[in-house]
Amino acid sequence: MKRDGQMESLWQATTSGELPLSFRREPQPALTYDVAIVGAGITGVTTALALQKKGFSVLLLEAQTACFGTTGGTTAHLNTLMDTPYHVMIKNFGEAHTTNVATAIRDALLHIKSNVSEYRIDCGYKTQDAFLYAQDEDQEKELEDILLAAKAVGITVEQSSDSPVTVPFTKGLRFPNNARFHPGRYVMALLEEFLKIGGAYYDHCRMTHMDEASTLVLHTTRGEFAAHRLIYATHIPPGVNLLHFRCAPYRSYAMAVELEDDNYPEGLAYDMYDPYHYFRTQEVDGKNT
Ligand SMILES: Cc1cc2nc3c(=O)[nH]c(=O)nc-3n(C[C@H](O)[C@H](O)[C@H](O)COP(=O)(O)OP(=O)(O)OC[C@H]3O[C@@H](n4cnc5c(N)ncnc54)[C@H](O)[C@@H]3O)c2cc1C
Repeated sequence: MKRDGQMESLWQATTSGELPLSFRREPQPALTYDVAIVGAGITGVTTALALQKKGFSVLLLEAQTACFGTTGGTTAHLNTLMDTPYHVMIKNFGEAHTTNVATAIRDALLHIKSNVSEYRIDCGYKTQDAFLYAQDEDQEKELEDILLAAKAVGITVEQSSDSPVTVPFTKGLRFPNNARFHPGRYVMALLEEFLKIGGAYYDHCRMTHMDEASTLVLHTTRGEFAAHRLIYATHIPPGVNLLHFRCAPYRSYAMAVELEDDNYPEGLAYDMYDPYHYFRTQEVDGKNT
């Protein structure tokens, strides 16, 4: 699996990235697809499979290879916590919108779980609790705000004196029924299912621009395609638009290590510093990391 980072991610190192040739369905330039999706990360592939399954004809285009973007470098915690905590979201957007976000997160987690079970995907999926812990008085105060806001928007959470990591803390929260998985193997399995049920997929195919006529005409590095609807699953929409002014560059450091004492944390754990540190275990082919 190829991706855009300088370093090799755990997912990249342990995903073949090859699709069985027998499933390959070349896009037909003469066809007008119901939906074209640009971007084959977790968003594009999940959406492509869901729509094809509903009976739409779907064309999925990817500039590089599947999981080349953020999905190939994610830390893949499936959690009900948010990087922007619920109390901050409520303050900025109100409780109703924040409740919608919380509901969407719970639905997304359930959707992944149900895909893993329906397609019997071997991607190290494991239901786990997530622990957020405070280490000083300011963090304790914020933890209290997080607890109240999360409960207000329907997230299951409780105070906890446990943590799966041996870092000292003063107060903690436990979010039950979160999960971990291997995103590379998960996404490649969904892509295979998409192809099996007739989906069309082109990699190394960058969409450059689009003409809007009675149908949409997508101009790509591998020719022109027509569709009635277009979904950008490119993480941020391509071209020049207002979102780009809001998209600041940040760098995260994710390390996959093997422990000498074999004492791997059973759960997802997060401290509350800015930037924060977080931990989890992934079993790949019988070996923990
Ligand atoms: C370091 C890090 C850690 C993270 N950890 C977590 C986590 O623990 N839990 C969590 O829930 N989220 C996490 N995230 C966020 C999560 O990984 C992303 O939200 C998710 O992977 C985005 O997937 P995507 O499919 O929307 O985008 P991407 O995976 O970025 O896919 C977009 C695809 O579009 C393609 N593309 C772009 N432009 C074009 C074009 N013009 N034509 C054709 N194709 C194009 C790209 O090549 C790419 O493959 C993390 C993110 C980072 C960076």
